[in-house]
Amino acid sequence: MKVMAVNAGSSSIKFQLLDMPSETQITSGIVERIGSENALFTIKYNGEKHVVETSILDHGVGVNLILEGLIKHHVIKDINEIEGVGHRVVQGGEVFKDSVLIDEKVLQQIVDLGEMAPLHNPANATGIKAFKAVLPNVPQVAVFDTTFHQTMDKDAYLYGTPYEWYTKYGIRKYGFHGTSHQYVSEKANQLMGTTDTKVVVCHIGNGASLSAVKDGHCVDTSMGFTPLEGFPMGTRSGSIDPAITSYMANKLNASAQEITDILNKKSGYLGISGISNDARDIEQAIVEGNERARLAFDVQAKQIADYIGSYHIYMGGLDAICFTAGIGENSSVLRQMIIDRLAVLGVKLDAELNKLRGERLISTADSKVKVFIIPTDEEVMIARDTIRISHK
Ligand code: AMP
Repeated sequence: MKVMAVNAGSSSIKFQLLDMPSETQITSGIVERIGSENALFTIKYNGEKHVVETSILDHGVGVNLILEGLIKHHVIKDINEIEGVGHRVVQGGEVFKDSVLIDEKVLQQIVDLGEMAPLHNPANATGIKAFKAVLPNVPQVAVFDTTFHQTMDKDAYLYGTPYEWYTKYGIRKYGFHGTSHQYVSEKANQLMGTTDTKVVVCHIGNGASLSAVKDGHCVDTSMGFTPLEGFPMGTRSGSIDPAITSYMANKLNASAQEITDILNKKSGYLGISGISNDARDIEQAIVEGNERARLAFDVQAKQIADYIGSYHIYMGGLDAICFTAGIGENSSVLRQMIIDRLAVLGVKLDAELNKLRGERLISTADSKVKVFIIPTDEEVMIARDTIRISHK
């Protein structure tokens, strides 16, 4: 059975077609620059990559192009072969505790939650509408970034702000990257042969977050009301003293929104190093002796180690630390810098294993905590949920 996993942005639609239940990827691709005359449609199939530049004025045109492309490249003979479409939706609030079959009411709830995620939910909803229009009889399932974190207790998700901010305005920690945290923590449990575990997942990509997962359930995470909270990322500051916002708004004669934009787009690796938001450039600059590049990694590694330390205490122990996403899976340098800071927990990396890639154990035999590299697969998670929910 073929299932499509979709991640729609404001001007893009990423997709993967998967064969289920084998979980093999059949094809993947992306429509970019939606809304322009010179939009791009890329499809990868059988090791080949086809790119077309064409006018794609809205998401509906993009979806039609994807489906026509699948037929044109003989991936499928008929669009009816697609038996389910799973959509990544960023913010599910407290409304959605699990993935859900999308009907008109659910779609409206996703749109309404856009108030808290204005950059993401409206775009996700646009993608859903476009697929529903072309495939009206195919089950469409929403898979939220936030649902995996809905198991957190109040002491973990509430801020120290007036309680009415929570009850009236929904101000609380939601957490993001949930499908990745779930996929990786489940895989770690498989590798350890038990679900009775205390695991920290380090999803470190351009956006980055940590989660503490006890017995398969998320108990804490580093991202918050928005994906800005946590530790420094590619261009995001992570958590800072909130009073800095109004202080710097005064200093720079800028609005609160403009300061938030700087914290989202010009901070993190980019802001500290002054070089790049890309971990590969930072690594290269460190090799060349650039102090600020070194600081970009140091500040991030320090804060990540702080989170792991606090999760160790919160969960009452720690069995495994898992690294995933672009940087977590590939940067042996950053992994080493983080684990070095956790020596007090008796965690030890095997320096040779740490240089390797792909799913593996990279801690020494005598390490008190196991350390794994586990490549994430959010699309497989979306496809799994699409089947589970549409067959309910
Ligand atoms: P993601 O957001 O998960 O796609 O991750 C993007 C980040 O992964 C970028 O900062 C890349 O520099 C980083 N990345 C990808 N490949 C490597 C690599 N081989 N070594 C270090 N960082 C990498």
